Amino acid sequence: MLVAPFEIELIERELPAPSSSQVLLRVDQCGVCASEIDVWTGKEPEELPAAIGHEAAGIVERVGDDVRGIQPGDHVAVWVDGGGFADRLLVEERFCIPVAADAPYPAVAEPLSCIVNAVELAAPRLGDDVVIVGAGYMGNLLQLVAALKGPRTITVADVRPDALARAERLGATRVIDTSQASLADAVRDVSDGGGADVSFEVTGAGAGLQVAAEATRMSGKLCIVGYHQGGARTIQLGRWNWMAFEIVNAHFRELETIMRGMRAGMRLVSAGVLDPSGLVTDAFPLGRVADAFHAATEKRNGFVKALVEPAADSPRG
Ligand SMILES: [Zn+2]
Repeated sequence: MLVAPFEIELIERELPAPSSSQVLLRVDQCGVCASEIDVWTGKEPEELPAAIGHEAAGIVERVGDDVRGIQPGDHVAVWVDGGGFADRLLVEERFCIPVAADAPYPAVAEPLSCIVNAVELAAPRLGDDVVIVGAGYMGNLLQLVAALKGPRTITVADVRPDALARAERLGATRVIDTSQASLADAVRDVSDGGGADVSFEVTGAGAGLQVAAEATRMSGKLCIVGYHQGGARTIQLGRWNWMAFEIVNAHFRELETIMRGMRAGMRLVSAGVLDPSGLVTDAFPLGRVADAFHAATEKRNGFVKALVEPAADSPRG
């Protein structure tokens, strides 16, 4: 439980039996999400104590009487709105997605769902020139998924050298440090002069929106994937309007859409078509959730994603 900003407490609770439609899970992994950092620091006030952690996956221990599609021993990724930083978790069966037992990073399911749905909605076509602004965890994940759509080029922009080096290792056609060079010029070079067919903004910052828009061709798609928390953003709406951009808001609130994205993403992961496991740079046992948040907040050079792995230190094993 997050009991106060920067303060996590492990609380022992009696384990309830699953209801007829629920599944009891032994949590294997739960990722620390960037959207939780403002809750952790108190910048985004939330009622405390709060059970946080919504990127969970684990192994089924028990199932309710009416559960038909899942059995004890199955590996699943789940959709939950909190409580993932725990050794056990109760989830409705309909929010469980099967994953391969040997998938190294099953907890990717929830963030991957956002990315799968973003790519599906923006729908880059075969041979498109694609731009991704922001090469953090979500930008990297987007790059891996967008590559499956068969673009001609993927140009990735960021200002952090370690992030750009990683994007290059993940197969970017070109990487641009926007503190040193113009993304729009670079994209014009590779795109026969017009600009990107589809640009994804994955920074959550106004500057990222602007850079992405400048690199997009007339009538191209500008897809907002970044999480724009906090104050207002200033955009060049006159130009966006004139350029006839198709503005795609890649945020999803319908549970059905989220579950569909999880299912599609985890089919790819379970089959080995998509391997995001290289993005996990930090793993902590349940007793060190606070350290996982410190790592995700400090973002040292090379940091991408922190996981909590409760099974590693569970007293009940
Ligand atoms: Zn998340």
